[in-house]
Amino acid sequence: MSKEDYEVVIGLEVHAELSTKTKIFCSCPTEFGAAPNTHICPICTAMPGTLPVLNEKVVEYAVKAGLATGCSIARDSKNDRKNYFYPDLPKSYQISQFDKPLCEHGEVEIEEEGEKKKIGITRIHIEEDAGKLNHNEFGGGSLVDLNRAGVPLIEIVSEPDMRSSKDAESYLRKIKSILEYIEVSDCKMQEGSLRADVNVSVRKKGSKEFGTRTEMKNMNSFRSIVRAIEYEESRQIEVIEEGGTITQETLRWDDVSGKTFSMRDKEDAQDYRYFPEPDLVAIRLSEEYIENIKNNLPELPESRRARYLEEYKLSEKESKMLTASKYLSNMFEDALTICGNPKAVANWLLSDVSRILNEKEIEPDQIPFTANQLAKMIELIEKGTISSAIGKKVLEELFENPRDPEEIIKEKGWIQISDEGAIKEVVTRILENNPQSIIDYKAGKDRALGFLVGQAMKETKGKANPQMLNKMFLEELNK
Ligand code: ADP
Ligand code: MG
Ligand code: ZN
Repeated sequence: MSKEDYEVVIGLEVHAELSTKTKIFCSCPTEFGAAPNTHICPICTAMPGTLPVLNEKVVEYAVKAGLATGCSIARDSKNDRKNYFYPDLPKSYQISQFDKPLCEHGEVEIEEEGEKKKIGITRIHIEEDAGKLNHNEFGGGSLVDLNRAGVPLIEIVSEPDMRSSKDAESYLRKIKSILEYIEVSDCKMQEGSLRADVNVSVRKKGSKEFGTRTEMKNMNSFRSIVRAIEYEESRQIEVIEEGGTITQETLRWDDVSGKTFSMRDKEDAQDYRYFPEPDLVAIRLSEEYIENIKNNLPELPESRRARYLEEYKLSEKESKMLTASKYLSNMFEDALTICGNPKAVANWLLSDVSRILNEKEIEPDQIPFTANQLAKMIELIEKGTISSAIGKKVLEELFENPRDPEEIIKEKGWIQISDEGAIKEVVTRILENNPQSIIDYKAGKDRALGFLVGQAMKETKGKANPQMLNKMFLEELNK
């Protein structure tokens, strides 16, 4: 049998750090990037005798996430202890939720090449993050930083409904987008505030039963998730084809070698010795509380998309692409308040900006320039100060060293030549040097005009006003 005879089955466990100001059980700040062990207190470092107090915002944010993904919200839920030993876990247990999660039975819709598909959400529960081990960073050995210990997380567990790495990517993008829209997490994969454990199994096509799965950790970009799934899919098929069996285990993805390595045998729930957290009271939510959150949910990607079609007359595709990322669509809306041309802003964001994001393998939230700077660049084109060819160069500059576009073009000497005399000079010279093009044009080959304009743009390094060039070449050619 070959690879084509198998089908991959994928389920994701997504962890999102909630953007509450303080931690889940103490009042330490959650802010990322502080010096090690400066955002800690007796509670999040597990000093004996300390007691946790649940941060109400965490419940609110988790309920928001549940409502935005079509989950039912439990009126009654509770926290449980998940026991395991690891040096980054000071209490030797994580306060999580076991049998009564806050949210259950949701779904999100993904779309690929026009085909829609629903991915089930098993549950969303709240829990605390662990600290972080730094290996060999401070002169050998491993040191623990507990700033992250007690940062609130939601874990979103999907059903094993995905059937390709593309499905998994679309699903994760959708989750990221929803969480960004409802403003409960900043979802920065590169900072670890959005992490996904990916469960993968394979089975023969047509088979009703699932194969044994492995769980992969340590992917911190969409690209590495896709690579990891594809690697693991092939690995499992190979093992089975050679007559072996898949062991259920946790694997670590190594981005450099592009391979997975065994971390540990898979624990079962019983290994964690879950039991109700005795130091916290049960969580009981009123119907009004849930209703109130529901009524105040911010605009979600779907409705924003509909609004873009209607309000800005963008195409279905443009609306979809812009609203897929909240950062991108906010940038679009912010830029519009300065230069009121939706088509132009959408074009720049979806063509050149997106292309550069792809090349750099970064996400829209890592765009270094402001909406204001983008809008000013577009305005400079619309006013005729620069050509759109120069606009592209300004954009490259904005990515490298963001500053006022006006400043950039002055500094680089990129202001468009719109002086009639100067343009005429260029046109005359180009015509002199390309007599064949004149003959071609007169023989009806319109392409010759494009060639001449192109030559003039080349000679002026993109600075000549293309409309004026066109007009003047035509005048000369038709003489
Ligand atoms: P655990 O908590 O031990 O990781 P769960 O039963 O909660 O186990 O499942 C974790 C994830 O694994 C879920 O996202 C689920 O969809 C996925 N999953 C379960 N079985 C399979 C399978 N056979 N193949 C791929 N994914 C699976
Ligand atoms: Mg798991
Ligand atoms: Zn603390």
